[in-house]
Amino acid sequence: MFLREEIMRRGFPVAKLQASACMIEFANDLVVGYDGSLYKCPVFMGQEEMCIGSLADGISDYRESHNLDIWKNDECLECAYLPLCFGGCRFFRLLKTGAIDGVDCRRAMLDASLERIVRQDVKREREVS
Ligand code: SF4
Repeated sequence: MFLREEIMRRGFPVAKLQASACMIEFANDLVVGYDGSLYKCPVFMGQEEMCIGSLADGISDYRESHNLDIWKNDECLECAYLPLCFGGCRFFRLLKTGAIDGVDCRRAMLDASLERIVRQDVKREREVS
């Protein structure tokens, strides 16, 4: 929050709050490796187990390996943060637990920061208008 404030105070742009979901959830979002291999996210490039196919051979079924629709559970569907989160980042979950076996829940982070982010943005809007 401190760094975001300082970046804004110096007039540089910062990421805006907006509804977003991971590119893994979108069928037409792909990353193509140097050798034509296909991935669902840039962070998975080069990881053989996360390769979903190739330009030559097409796309394999990655629903299970990437745990698609992971956010379609009662807790997430009831969560006010769903439009900002959609179950978080698969890569972070993999780093934390060694598997994409659940959501990368952002509730604690958003509880702690969302109001301050909105206040920063409102303050900045008022300063520039
Ligand atoms: S913050 Fe947690 S509970 Fe809410 S949508 Fe994200 S992962 Fe689901």
